[in-house]
Amino acid sequence: MSDRAAEISAAYAAATPELGAGHALEARLIGPAAYAARLVAARDAVNDAGADAALIGFGADMRYLTGYAAPALERLTMLVVPARGEATLIVPRLEAGMAGDAPAMRGGSVATVPFGETDDPFALVAAAVRAGARGGSTPLSVALSDRLWATFVLRIESALGAGSARPTLRLASEVIGRLRSVKSAEESALLRAAGRAVDSVVKAITSGKLVGRTENDVAREVRERLTGAGHEVASFAIVGSGKNSASPHHEASSKVIDAGDAIVLDIGGQFGGYGSDTTRTIWVTGPNGAVPPTDDFLHRYEVLKRAHQAATDHVRPGVSCESVDAAARAVIDGAGLGERFFHRTGHGIGLEEHEDPYIVKGNGTLLVPGHAFSIEPGIYVEGLNGARIEDIVLCGDSAVDQLNNTGRDLYVVPG
Ligand code: ZN
Ligand code: ZN
Ligand code: ZN
Repeated sequence: MSDRAAEISAAYAAATPELGAGHALEARLIGPAAYAARLVAARDAVNDAGADAALIGFGADMRYLTGYAAPALERLTMLVVPARGEATLIVPRLEAGMAGDAPAMRGGSVATVPFGETDDPFALVAAAVRAGARGGSTPLSVALSDRLWATFVLRIESALGAGSARPTLRLASEVIGRLRSVKSAEESALLRAAGRAVDSVVKAITSGKLVGRTENDVAREVRERLTGAGHEVASFAIVGSGKNSASPHHEASSKVIDAGDAIVLDIGGQFGGYGSDTTRTIWVTGPNGAVPPTDDFLHRYEVLKRAHQAATDHVRPGVSCESVDAAARAVIDGAGLGERFFHRTGHGIGLEEHEDPYIVKGNGTLLVPGHAFSIEPGIYVEGLNGARIEDIVLCGDSAVDQLNNTGRDLYVVPG
């Protein structure tokens, strides 16, 4: 084991899921030097793509490159990563102190340019782009963060010039997307710790009281336990019981959980910035096994489990994202239940809950070690019930690496 690998596994082992553990592990693993390296890689990617700059607003790209979780404000905050020279953060003066505390700014790899209430931040962005353009001062191609608001896009566009003097605009994901979708050892350690934390919540909920409680009440317990286990944000708590389990993105409602209900429990949060996301399916029988799962439901669950296993076993470097989807779908189609599995098999995960690579037909992206994504087939019978199994996995050097490890059998509990 390399020194760095040993350091990471020691840090991971020390991070027992508890209040605040996510942020503590993130601070230990990803420091100013890591952000400096990411910014160099981003500048290289800008050059490789033949672009003059990448303009990054608040959001996951900003956080990835600087460690700054910029607030979503009407005032512009923008990181300019030029083809030549140093990155610059254009930031409202009243946010400058907070931005300056972020690791990349503390480490000196980003120059901070604060602006006052009557200054024009778009002119500052345009000046930074021209200063770092490839061919002197005339930018030809500029990449913008994918989720940049229209109010910013239009004003940046006009600040960059008019008519034929205006550079072509493109998506930043086309330029720097791969940096984020392929996780480093440190990011993988955070995802692994996030998986372990959320697994502890699944264990608590599946072994606790369910019958007679509302979905909302169980969801509240999920959220409390997610933060108690080290997540800084409890992002979602899907508790779909009975008919609601057939609606894949049902959140939680005032419905009371009853004996004979299937429950789809799909929960996750942010742990040191990185997402957790796992689903398990429960059947509550009531006391003394009063209402056991129906044969039809057990049959569908067995098919689902085989589909989940087939997709998981298929994961290795060099296979396409769509072939992982196809592996799950073949099992469910083969059982004549294809119509009941109507969503993609999975999504990438990292600083965002849903990001590249998507595990869906049409995505020919080939897996490489470090790709992190969910495998989450589901089978739903509208008006009756549904089931889903979801794990986050990493593509390892030669095989899959599962980050969720609670039992994948149907949880048949008295409730
Ligand atoms: Zn989903
Ligand atoms: Zn999920
Ligand atoms: Zn998911």
